[in-house]
Amino acid sequence: MQITFHGAAREVTGSCHQIVIKDVQGNMHQYLIDCGMFQGRRYADEPNFEDFHFDPKTIEAVFVTHAHADHTGRLPKLIKAGFTGSIYCVHPTRPLTRIILEDSYHIMKENTEREGEPLLYDEEDVTQVFEQMQTVNYHETVEMTPGISFMFHDAGHILGSAFLSIEAEGKRVVFSGDLGNSDVPILPETEDLSQADVVICESTYGDSLHEDPKDRTTILRDLIEQTVRNQSVLLIPTFSIERTQEVLYEMDQILLHDLKTNLPIFLDSPMAIRATEIYRHYQNYLRFEADILREPDRDFFTFPNLVETLNREESKVINDRPAPKIIIAGSGMMSGGRIMHHLQRYLPDEKTQLLIIGYQATGTLGRRLYEGAKQVRVYGQEVEVKASVKAVGAFSSHADQNKLTKWLTPKEGDVPKKIILVHGEFAVQEVFATHLRYHLRTEVIIPEMFQEIEI
Ligand SMILES: [Zn+2]
Repeated sequence: MQITFHGAAREVTGSCHQIVIKDVQGNMHQYLIDCGMFQGRRYADEPNFEDFHFDPKTIEAVFVTHAHADHTGRLPKLIKAGFTGSIYCVHPTRPLTRIILEDSYHIMKENTEREGEPLLYDEEDVTQVFEQMQTVNYHETVEMTPGISFMFHDAGHILGSAFLSIEAEGKRVVFSGDLGNSDVPILPETEDLSQADVVICESTYGDSLHEDPKDRTTILRDLIEQTVRNQSVLLIPTFSIERTQEVLYEMDQILLHDLKTNLPIFLDSPMAIRATEIYRHYQNYLRFEADILREPDRDFFTFPNLVETLNREESKVINDRPAPKIIIAGSGMMSGGRIMHHLQRYLPDEKTQLLIIGYQATGTLGRRLYEGAKQVRVYGQEVEVKASVKAVGAFSSHADQNKLTKWLTPKEGDVPKKIILVHGEFAVQEVFATHLRYHLRTEVIIPEMFQEIEI
């Protein structure tokens, strides 16, 4: 068995791993795990445009761990380059991927029209992704050929997210995909790893510990209260999938049980509004506390204060509403989308609070604000930052060092013989590798881009 890393090697984005496996007759088969976009830099100067370092026609199938663009964004390009096999994923991942890929295409097309940047793929390639997608459930065995089988397990990261186990050549190899935080109120816990020989593990937060996820309610409650008291604006840039629904759910609970206020909360993101519909549709994949589930016909993502602004006209109304108000808008890393207009308008106001609740990639506006920049450029305009910026790890949708380490230590059986770290910044991975070598006494590898590892 051989694994080659075509993305997310010593960086967070661009997940795409090629695995070559021998079947019982000795024939070789090639598969991909994820085919994601490199993010955080401009499209045109990114490695997204490089030809794949393998022949897409020889790949038999792709296994997609979850819908996020850094795991799905290059699927249309793969199809454009001649891939004709099946794309396997868990049921909700298909409609969520559709939202993400259609949005990426839309942004790319706008950039092409504005700045003449080349298109990475065509609209037909996006449509074709959904033709080739085959959805399965968690724990359903996908036997590709005698002696090679795959299975998805719940990763608790976003709706439909999975880690993937492969049984072949007498070994069990696991790709973690992205692993969720603990105690996420709307998602089931990450499943146990069980015994595995080799684990290819994400390491986004391998060097740090999040605040207790249970603190998120208190943090959010305090911020809402402050916003009302100071007659100010609270900006929450969010990722449309998962983070938005978690924030909506928390707000629903706070406003239902705890805090009475009529302050308007705007959900200013068409993509997040569409994603929330999918969350409603797949409620059997979610977890809610038992007492809440008993309440009949409760919609956990809607409450009287919420104003969804789907089109541009509705969105303009937000400006006219005086403070206090809360604006939830994309994009999560503040690299485009409707949040940009709100940043332009409200960052120079010292009463504004900006709540950062997700990972901010190097090179993004979000990262500069997170690092305390006092002056930033938003859509070519210099904007002074007087707003207070608060970053809260409790909302992270990724596992921290503790949870990753615990997951890598199965309740039954031995720790993996080999752990290969992907999906993390190199400095973070070095800290995590040292930690794992010390605590788990096992081999830990941090592969470079295009490195081949024999297992
Ligand atoms: Zn993800």
